[in-house]
Amino acid sequence: MSRRAGRHFLQIPGPSNIPDRVLRAMDRPIIDHRGPEFGRLAKDLLADLQPVFGTSGPVVVFPSSGTGAWEAAIVNTLSPGDKVVMFETGQFAALWKKMADKLNLDVDLVSGDWRRGADAGLLEAKLAEDKSHKIKAVMVVHNETSTGVTSRIPLIRQAIDKARHPALLMVDTISSLGSVDYRHDEWGVDVTVSCSQKGLMLPPGLGFNAISDKALAAGQHNDMHRSYWDWEDMLKSNATGFFPYSPATNMLFGLKEAIAMLNEEGLANVFARHDRHAEATRRAVTAWGLEVLCLEPAEYSPVLTAVLMPEGVDADKVRAAILDRFDMSLGTGLGKLAGKVFRIGHLGDINDLTLMGTLAGVEMGLAVAQVPHKRGGVQAAMDYLAGNSRAA
Ligand code: PLP
Repeated sequence: MSRRAGRHFLQIPGPSNIPDRVLRAMDRPIIDHRGPEFGRLAKDLLADLQPVFGTSGPVVVFPSSGTGAWEAAIVNTLSPGDKVVMFETGQFAALWKKMADKLNLDVDLVSGDWRRGADAGLLEAKLAEDKSHKIKAVMVVHNETSTGVTSRIPLIRQAIDKARHPALLMVDTISSLGSVDYRHDEWGVDVTVSCSQKGLMLPPGLGFNAISDKALAAGQHNDMHRSYWDWEDMLKSNATGFFPYSPATNMLFGLKEAIAMLNEEGLANVFARHDRHAEATRRAVTAWGLEVLCLEPAEYSPVLTAVLMPEGVDADKVRAAILDRFDMSLGTGLGKLAGKVFRIGHLGDINDLTLMGTLAGVEMGLAVAQVPHKRGGVQAAMDYLAGNSRAA
């Protein structure tokens, strides 16, 4: 293929675009990860990460993808045979469940239609019935990247509290952290799982666990084998600014810059920006006469919008036409949504014009792919953005 002018539009729901500032921060010689410069970097960084998670407790950083951080959350707290409750909110919840099965947890999966978030009412009833406290953990995906549905974690917390149940609460914030309001301490979360390539605007390669005292205590007497993922080894080394094995040094320089960028904008403004772009996107989808997959307005994702295709239209053909004609990547339908939806990512380092370029690419692509739709989505989004100027 001949060279294509201009920047590729990467509008998948992560990995998200890496800001030039972050790229430049990583583009430097490697340093001694056992030397004083690294020690200072890591100590500062581990402290700077805490407000991003809304915690004053420890956050550990693994050189891993998000899947590794899922595993770390399980092996550091639970034992084979432990009963856990999970919610079938979409493909990522299904994959975390598959991992839990492989690690011999006894998973009680609350089934779902992939169009709504985790059901707090059902959870409360389940926990209230569990008088002997067999359920050891409740595991929820905050932002389901496969569906564009954001579960309401405060309601999940309330359900656990109302049932007066001691289960641990573990939350996957892989595609919400740094894009959606999140409060590990205030919401009583025991393990928050996250990673680098979404709201933190970095390449894949860092996995995170924010850990409560209760989760740390559970790890003192649980019975799962662990070595690489062991929090104890990690926390012992982190206390002096080091890691028990080679850290992803240059990614950490990038992380420092990414956190500085989030702080310069202000986390509250970052969240408001995501909300605003998500609303503009939904207005475009509605104006096109198409359907947003998420059925519950209180659970619309600020991070991505999954767009349902009319019966008989293959969403992947539409995506392929858009890539071919306009050099833009949109997210594919995952699992049982394959071919039925495409996903517009509106997370990370984006502004009004990035979003408008994206929506223009989709509207032009719908025409190229001959998808039955109405014109005017771009106009509806523009009208919304013009009438709702940015947070100061
Ligand atoms: N959980 C969610 C919600 C995700 O979106 C993803 C990846 O996109 C994962 C887990 C898995 O993360 P990774 O691909 O970094 O292992």
